[in-house]
Amino acid sequence: MSLPIVAIIGRPNVGKSTLVNRLAQVQDAIVFDQPGVTRDRTYKRAFWRDREFQVVDTGGLVFDDDTEFLPLIREQAMAALAESKAAIFVVDGQAGLTQADEEIARWLRQQPVPVLIAVNKCESVDQGLVQAAEFWELGLGEPFAVSSIHGSGTGDLLDRVVEHFPPTDEIEESPEIKVAIAGRPNVGKSSLLNAFVGENRSIVSPISGTTRDAIDMLVERDDKMYRLIDTAGIRKKKNVEYGPEFFGINRAFKAIDRSDVVLLVIDALDGVTEQDQKLAGRIDDEGRACVVIVNKWDAIEKDSHTIYEYDQQIRDRLHFVEWAESIFISAKTGQRVEKIFELVDRAAEQHKRRISTSVINEVLEDALSWHTPPTTRQGRQGKIYYGTQVSSAPPTIALFVNDPHLFNDNYRRYIDRKFRESLGFQGTPLRLLWRGKK
Ligand code: GDP
Ligand code: GDP
Repeated sequence: MSLPIVAIIGRPNVGKSTLVNRLAQVQDAIVFDQPGVTRDRTYKRAFWRDREFQVVDTGGLVFDDDTEFLPLIREQAMAALAESKAAIFVVDGQAGLTQADEEIARWLRQQPVPVLIAVNKCESVDQGLVQAAEFWELGLGEPFAVSSIHGSGTGDLLDRVVEHFPPTDEIEESPEIKVAIAGRPNVGKSSLLNAFVGENRSIVSPISGTTRDAIDMLVERDDKMYRLIDTAGIRKKKNVEYGPEFFGINRAFKAIDRSDVVLLVIDALDGVTEQDQKLAGRIDDEGRACVVIVNKWDAIEKDSHTIYEYDQQIRDRLHFVEWAESIFISAKTGQRVEKIFELVDRAAEQHKRRISTSVINEVLEDALSWHTPPTTRQGRQGKIYYGTQVSSAPPTIALFVNDPHLFNDNYRRYIDRKFRESLGFQGTPLRLLWRGKK
């Protein structure tokens, strides 16, 4: 389960966004303005006492004639309520009770979520109590006099809000996995993104990335959070003619640098190109986990050898990420799109993996017994004393040796292969540091 959500409801100008900012105590708006991609809502993180939660501003509830909400707005608000643990109904204490408030209250009483009334703009405490009293009439329980501008009264309100949250131990917040979707133009990145977020089972919300126009999207699936990096970059309309050298590679590089796992998307119709190789090189350099996605599998004439041939091509031409798992999908038909998440989970797990020193040394001992390090013509032989993991993401193992120069590339590759054979590490780069005695 992820953080509890609190929906903020009310007509325009009552101070909803001021309240949201007060609760979240951050001023940076997290907005996503691409219609049709996700619900147009703003989520912010907030804390009260020892509880962390998200507040979502549903936007002002507007009526088309005095009795009906605009259907779209109502839909938005219902969607927000559906995922909320509580709602705060904001009214304007200075304006007093309006007919619109009564309409909203009538509607809220039918919604399956606890509602608390915040009577906003009550700066003076005594006056506030008087202002708040008339909102008992809404039939939603005790009205709380608050001032979103000053912050007064919000503590009492939040005390009541958090009572509706599930116990903290039921909310084990799994750390999100940061996923970059990288590939040349037209390989199907935005189609894949659509396939991900179109999934009914996933809850999607936009959050700002590192720069103003780099918009990430959070996808929740099976209680796990995935942050899709720079989805705005993927969706950017391609009215630019790209030359063979330019395909927004810097943007792709930036996304790769921020990710844990890169989905390297290849077009099955084109096979592995030089540009794909560049991206693979970057993934390896940056030490990111990777899943190779061969897209447009629906458009390929297949026989029993086809997958094997593609696998071979990927291994040969994408040797920078030869440790990555690959999957053959169609973003268009949705074939195997679901399965990508399993591969991402696996790669992310391997990427963060830690191996005990004793296991590392067992592997080394075994490797050394099969194949002793080379001896120079002068009769000097390489010696590996021991190894230990010094960091993860990607897993990095330091090997303490007598002299690193005594180990040629062949032997280094052999040790690398032995680690992978014994310990797996599929989907992640593995770094071996050969350290001599000082
Ligand atoms: P929203 O449309 O419901 O999101 O309302 P806003 O948060 O944009 O606020 C509407 C207006 O009410 C702005 O001019 C705010 O400065 C003002 N406002 C918001 N909260 C308070 C408050 O606690 N006290 C007073 N006096 N004004 C407030
Ligand atoms: P992007 O530039 O990488 O974001 O690629 P798009 O998602 O815009 O897709 C480029 C073109 O490939 C579009 O015409 C898509 O309809 C098509 N396409 C994407 N995925 C598939 C697929 O799985 N199968 C087929 N046959 N076409 C696809």
